[in-house]
Order: sequence, then structure tokens, then C-alpha cells
Amino acid sequence: MAHLLVIEDDAAIRASMIRALGDLGHAVSSSPTGMAGLQSALDDNPDLILLDLGLPDLDGHSVLSMLRAVGQVPVIIVTARDDDPSVVKALDAGADDYIVKPFTSELLDARIRAVLRRASSSSEPATITVGELSIDPTSRQARLGDQALDLTRREFDLLYLLASRAGEVVTKREILSEVWRQVYGGGERTVDVHLSWLRRKLGETASEPVYLHSVRGVGIRLDAPPS
Ligand code: CA
Repeated sequence: MAHLLVIEDDAAIRASMIRALGDLGHAVSSSPTGMAGLQSALDDNPDLILLDLGLPDLDGHSVLSMLRAVGQVPVIIVTARDDDPSVVKALDAGADDYIVKPFTSELLDARIRAVLRRASSSSEPATITVGELSIDPTSRQARLGDQALDLTRREFDLLYLLASRAGEVVTKREILSEVWRQVYGGGERTVDVHLSWLRRKLGETASEPVYLHSVRGVGIRLDAPPS
């Protein structure tokens, strides 16, 4: 059972969602406006939020960005159209999934369970070790061998992102979206600058990489050096 918050202005849809989710064994609270929904999200600390994009006071995207500014509560967007560009925008802005009206309670429940499963598997992040590097996201400490690294918040987030996907090329756009929470265009210079600071702290350079390998025109790959 999860505690769910439904933010939906249409009274009939709201009532049917509350009934369906209650029948599925969830505890449900609800809000008819964006502002009331935000307040409820802060007060009640729900496990997951079902968010309608078309709300009378605040646009659903604003609600989402305010939620994302304060935490990582899972959010499923509820929309009337699946080709809606605003759905893409919401997913880019950190929504976890979406569902198109009208939907069955079985489908809604399946989406909720999938999102909650992902959220719980990522909620207790473990220390990542790659070669001599170890990065503990809980204490936000990174070490190289027995040396603690003195990283800024961005440098830490950048290193953690790259290490959590070690062996994969991470694009600068993904970095901007994950570390800077910036979805649209620009900012690649910022990534380059932070990468060069991070390299210096790891004791390497772009021309003589140890962990951080630039893949020209694509992005960055963090790899353990050959032992
Ligand atoms: Ca609506």
C-alpha cells in the first residue's frame, strides 16, 4: 500500500481515481488545484503524486518544477492526449511516467507499482567503486585511493553521474539535464569547465586521461584505468 496524492481539478475524474485507488488498497489524498496540491505534497509527504497538467490556478508544469525543486517524490502525469508535447516537456522536467485518460484502474495500478519499484530501488544509493575511485552519495564523499577528494557540489554530482554509468558514454546534454537540471539547449561550455576542474582534482588531463575519457562529439565516458 502506498500513500498517493491526486492533483486533479475535474471533480468526476478525481472522485473516480480516489475510488479506484482506494479499492486497490492505497491511501489517497487529493487536491483540486496546483497550490493546494503543493501544500498537500509538503504536508502529507506522499509516496507518489498523480498530476493533471491542466489545472485552474497553476499549470501542471509549474507544479512539477516546484515539486522537483524540493525533492524527488515520484510523479505520474495524467493527460488527455498522448501526443501532447507538454507530456514530453513534463518527462524532460523530471516526471517519472504518464498515463492517458481514460485509463483502467489496472493500468493505473501497474504504472504506479512500476514507478514505486524504480523509486525504491534507487532510494538508497550505494557507494560506487570504479578502480581506485569510490563515491558515497549518502555522505557525498569521494575518494581516490586513500585520498579524499575536495569537490564542489556540481563536481560531485558530475562525478557521481559518470561513475554510476561507468563504461558508458554520457552526453553533455544528459549531464546538463541530470546535474544542472537544465533541459533546453546551451551550457556545454559549463560542462567542459567543470570537467576540466574535475580532471585536475583527479590528477589527470584531457590529453592524458585516466578515468575521464572524452568521446569527441558525443560526450564523456568514465572508465577504470587498466590495472
Ligand atoms: Ca484538468
